[in-house]
Amino acid sequence: MHPLRSVTVVGGGLAGFTVAAQLRANGFDGTVRIVDPQGLPYDRPPLSKAYLTGDATLELAPSAWYDDNAVEVITGRVTRLSAGTGGVLVGGRELASDAVVLATGGLPRPLPGGRVLRTRADADRLRETLRPGGELVIVGAGLIGAEVASSARTLGVAVTLVDPVAVPLVPAVGPELAVFLQAQHEKHGVRFLHGTPSRIGGGFAEIERHDGERVRVGADTVLAAVGLEVHTGLASSAGLAVDGGIVVDSAGRTSNPAIYAVGDIARTRLPDGTLQRRGEHWESAMLDGTATARSLLGLAADTRPPPWFWSDRYGLHVEAVGTMAVPGKTVFRESGPASRLAFRLDTDGRLTGCASINGGKALRAARRLIARAAVVAPEYLRDPAVDVRKLGRNTRAGTG
Ligand SMILES: Cc1cc2nc3c(=O)[nH]c(=O)nc-3n(C[C@H](O)[C@H](O)[C@H](O)COP(=O)(O)OP(=O)(O)OC[C@H]3O[C@@H](n4cnc5c(N)ncnc54)[C@H](O)[C@@H]3O)c2cc1C
Repeated sequence: MHPLRSVTVVGGGLAGFTVAAQLRANGFDGTVRIVDPQGLPYDRPPLSKAYLTGDATLELAPSAWYDDNAVEVITGRVTRLSAGTGGVLVGGRELASDAVVLATGGLPRPLPGGRVLRTRADADRLRETLRPGGELVIVGAGLIGAEVASSARTLGVAVTLVDPVAVPLVPAVGPELAVFLQAQHEKHGVRFLHGTPSRIGGGFAEIERHDGERVRVGADTVLAAVGLEVHTGLASSAGLAVDGGIVVDSAGRTSNPAIYAVGDIARTRLPDGTLQRRGEHWESAMLDGTATARSLLGLAADTRPPPWFWSDRYGLHVEAVGTMAVPGKTVFRESGPASRLAFRLDTDGRLTGCASINGGKALRAARRLIARAAVVAPEYLRDPAVDVRKLGRNTRAGTG
């Protein structure tokens, strides 16, 4: 293979930015460019939190960083990818490079009459409507919907949250914490309607409740927070393997050796052929970017920890690591009124997942145990007096 002299990154979200930053951090001195219609890379988690309520900084790096690190940012949209040559087309200009990294993320699933929240511009527009006394209807009570509900309440907005599931987030955090989190909405004055919208417009939303009753709710703004769609047209037209995301190996390689994909757009196929779910969280986008930069430079891959995400609502810090959705049982720990942990053990007693509210260091310790598939006695997990960080010494690694 010829030495790598140039890399074009398509998409300057966290995943694309991390590829560029890690290429430089690992000593690559060839050409690095990022193409994105939104210009300089920025971070998304604050968009539903501090950026909505105040003035959070979004930039992933100060503008001088790009000059200092010779990373060219081209403001434009890539409209074509040439499979053979590593070329991309931006606004009529063909850019050739030795490798292309697709990091185009996804777009929120739209709802007629509703707004979405994915970009800084979306957040700016939403923020303008969030005034004291205003009425906001949020469709979808998952992570982003709940965060916006919480932010809007701090701004004095009346919020109605609508979801077809009575208690959302059970697969992500387990039933106990999902019920606790759900109760927070009411506690903070958010009206929850179990149902789906049947009509939106004219300053109101009509919700069909699960019991068939129709409820009319005032709505200056309706926000759809009903999941992400990935657009793989660019990849498919270049002949790349696509299956609910661009299919990659654990180093981000697509079916074309000169083209990689990272972040929310990518879906990893494990060596045994299993197609994993796409990551849609901050850390997985960052780790994808790091792994791909290393792979481009021929460096060994780092071991990947079990997947983790966080979310914030009503002053509560929610985290989950590994998976809570395997057959087995949940062990629950309450350490004081403000901190709760749920541990998931599979049917062989191995720790597969941990979800927490204000869980602090215990969740990070659990992550290490999950990585080892450690078998942990439920009584230790349940007991708030037992330090999870010390449990590693009393456990055995799982066999599977
Ligand atoms: C409001 C919000 C809150 C979130 N909060 C959390 C949280 O609390 N915790 C957590 O773990 N995760 C959170 N996430 C998820 C996390 O931010 C995403 O997983 C992460 O941003 C994915 O990064 P990405 O680079 O793959 O995609 P993106 O960040 O979507 O970036 C993709 C970029 O590609 C560009 N692009 C698209 N098409 C083209 C094209 N044809 N040519 C050139 N460029 C293109 C887009 O303009 C965009 O800038 C949140 C996400 C949102 C939207």
